[in-house]
This record gives sequence, structure tokens and C-alpha cells, in this order.
Amino acid sequence: MLSITVEKLIYYGKCHLDLMMEDEMYVRNILLHFLNIDEPYDGEIDKESIENMTSPIDIIKELKSLNDKLSDNDIDFIFSLLTPRPKEIIMKFNDIYESQNPSDAIEYLYNLSIYNNYIKEERNKNIEWVFEGDISNFLVSINMMKTENTRKKDDESYPKCELCSSNVGYYGKNNDDSKSNLRIVPLNIMNEEWFLEPSAYAHYNKHMLLVSKEHTSVYTNKKTIEIELDFLDKFPHLFIGANPDIERVGTKNLNHMHFECGDDTLPIMNAKIRYNLKKKEIPDSEISYLDWYTSCFMIKSRNKNSIATLAELFIQSFDNYDDDSINLTSKDDKAKYSSVATLAIKTDDIYILYLIPRNNRIISAYPNGIFNTRNENTNIKDDYISLKESCGLFFLPSRLNEEIMLIGDIISTNYYSISDMISKNNSLEKHLQLINNLLLKYGRKKSKETALELVKYEIGKLCEKILSNTSIFKDTIDGQIALFKFIDSLMLEVK
Ligand SMILES: [Zn+2]
Repeated sequence: MLSITVEKLIYYGKCHLDLMMEDEMYVRNILLHFLNIDEPYDGEIDKESIENMTSPIDIIKELKSLNDKLSDNDIDFIFSLLTPRPKEIIMKFNDIYESQNPSDAIEYLYNLSIYNNYIKEERNKNIEWVFEGDISNFLVSINMMKTENTRKKDDESYPKCELCSSNVGYYGKNNDDSKSNLRIVPLNIMNEEWFLEPSAYAHYNKHMLLVSKEHTSVYTNKKTIEIELDFLDKFPHLFIGANPDIERVGTKNLNHMHFECGDDTLPIMNAKIRYNLKKKEIPDSEISYLDWYTSCFMIKSRNKNSIATLAELFIQSFDNYDDDSINLTSKDDKAKYSSVATLAIKTDDIYILYLIPRNNRIISAYPNGIFNTRNENTNIKDDYISLKESCGLFFLPSRLNEEIMLIGDIISTNYYSISDMISKNNSLEKHLQLINNLLLKYGRKKSKETALELVKYEIGKLCEKILSNTSIFKDTIDGQIALFKFIDSLMLEVK
């Protein structure tokens, strides 16, 4: 009976979403109306199972089984009714921030967004493994959540984009639009209005977005860095980073300025230093070039102004830097091709900024871009290589979950002919090179478990290759000569 589920929802709201006793009757009556129920249920419910819930998944299954007409937007709307209104959440967030600490405040907003179904249960289903690469370890993850920013809008109808603050409480026109249960917290950063919101994609621990109040284009310049450093003063336990302000190397939404934040150690943060560099005029900052898959410079300093000044020099220089020997063209009369991905952390009052140069120019030999995934590797990654991949969190599409199993079947048995398997599963055709490579290297007759380990290892090798393809200054003689030419152009000394 749906009326029993309504009582379960009310109790769930009281246990996990701060639904107040004073609001209980009001919310119940709206739910009864929305679900077309005449009278509330007056009996007992299993309170203990609701108290022990860590997400709303079971109660959602029950709702859908009792009313198959309920859409995902309807479910989100129901949970938004159980969630406190934005003002109450903002007050509680600020109270926890002041009376406890920034970490607890983030934890509050993030957990609330799990309990109210904004961050969906699929977040726990990602398949992850650590790849032990030649340079360093990195994390490969098959992402079972929806692809980030899949909703492509060709116009600026309301809301202008999925990041606009006008999405709070927005019911949506289709399932991708649903934001009823989104709750955000306003912040003042660099004397501008910003807001913090949980990311529904849960790519890493406490994945949040810092979003501009204004619907304004993504920019990569000194201000980008100043905002990151100012944010770290307010949330020193998080990292913050931004994708570059050009297409095909990061965010799909270049129309609304935003940053990615999280409470996690990204593999790039453990990278070793390859070259120590120095800028004589700015002696209070350490500059280095990292031993990492993609070209990456790191600046460390206690002085925010020094970091911002050095970063500005770096970004402006790279934005206009050309080098034919490595096929690097920064711009032409049609477009700008070069920009920089940025990532910042703060430890013990020292700011650390990572600068990753990117270029998105396409030529006929490289239809995905000169510094992007090659055609032969799009079988495992056909999406942009963004900041998270550059930093060592390699996200692969959910289709690979099944495809890896099928490839594992082929290399663990003698019975399957490759052509038979491919004719039965068209999705395997694109992996033919990977399958042949696996058979050539390791043969057949492995246990399924060993076969899957080998498939994952070889996929990790491909991720490594893709990352090095995105690198501007490659680990080749030409690449390293070009790197030192660029370092010279910045008037940096090698220590
Ligand atoms: Zn917007």
C-alpha cells in the first residue's frame, strides 16, 4: 500500500534529512496529494530498517514497485519535499562551518545530498583498480554513473545551463534535468558571489563544484588561480581545480565558470620532481617540472601573490607559445588552441599549484586532436581527457564493464572463436587489436580471474598511452628539447 510507503518516507525524512516534527503534517499532506492517496496510513511501520538505511535506494524501489508511473523526476521531487528548504540548509552549513570546521560542513552537505537522492546509489558501483604504471601508479575506474554533462543544450532556455543556480528545486522537463533535490550553499570568493554544490557524479571523495553565481564563460587566467587560492583558505582540506577554457580537453560546459573540488589525494599529488626550476625575481616560490604522464609544472609557496604572478606568466606564455618541432600551434585566425588545466591544494600553510598545459588543435592525421586520444584507443575512451584523467583518475565508460567480461571469456578459454564472439557481440569489434594483443602476449586457458586481471592491466597500459598522447612535451628527445626551450622562454633557471 502506497500510504504505508508515505509513512516510511516521513520517518526516513525525520531520521536522515532533518525533517522537523512541526513540518511533518504539512509534508504528509503534500505527499498524499502528489501520490493521489485519500487518507494516511495509521498503523505501525518497521522503523529500525529505516533508521539503518545509508541511502534511499530501498525506499525508492518500493515506491516504484507500487506506482510504476513515477518518473525519476517525481522521485527527486518527493525527496525534495523531505529535504529542508535551501535557507535552513545554508544556515546549518554555516553554523557547522563556524562552530566545528569546514570539513564537517562539507560532510553535512554531501551526506544530505546522498540521503535526498541527489547523489545516486550508482556511485558505489564504480569498478576501480590501481594501475602500476612506468612512471607512477594511477587509478582506473569504470564509471557506472551517467556521463558528466551529457545534457547538451542548443539554446539558453530556462535554466540557461545545468550549472545555473536557477536549477535549485527545478523539476525538469526530462529525467536529465531533474534538480528538485539539489541544495547549494553561497560563498563569497574574491568578493564575488559563488556557490558550492555537490556533484551528482561522485568521481572522488566529496566531489563538489564551486560555481559562479553568474552564467559566465569559463576562463583560465590569473583570476582563476586567485579564486582557487582564496577557496583553499576557506576549505583547506579540499583540492580545487579547473579545466581549461577550450573545447575537447575538459569540461563540456564552457558557458558557465566552475571549478571541481574534492577531499582526495589525486595520484599526481604523489608525483616525483624531475627538474627543479627557479625564477630569480620570485625567490619565495619553488618551481618544478614533474615526473608525470602529462606535462605538468608545480609551484609551491606560502605567498599567494607569488604563485598567482608565476601562474599568470606561465598561462600567458603557454597561451601564445608555438613550436613546430612538436606540432604546437597556440592559435590562428579561427580559434585559440592552447590553454592550461589547473589544480591547487594547501598543506601546512603552503599552497601547491599544478599547471597542466593542453592543446586541442585537430589536423587530418589526428582527427581527435594532435594532443588527444588516438583513433586506435577510442575503443576504451571516446570522451575528453579532462583534469581528473590528467591528474591520474582515469574514468572509462560504463559499457566497458560488460566488454571486459567478454574479452576475459575469450582469453580464458579455448572454446570461443574470436570471430564467433564478435559476430554475437558487435561491441567487441572495436577491441580486436586489444584481444589479439592479449592472446599474443599471454595465450589462452587462463582462469577467468587471471584473464580479467590481464585485461585490466592491458587497459591500464592503453590509459597510460592516452595520457602520454595528451602530453605537450613528450618523453622523447624532441619533446624534452622543446620543454627546455619553453622553460627558457619563461626565463626560468634549471637548478
Ligand atoms: Zn549557467
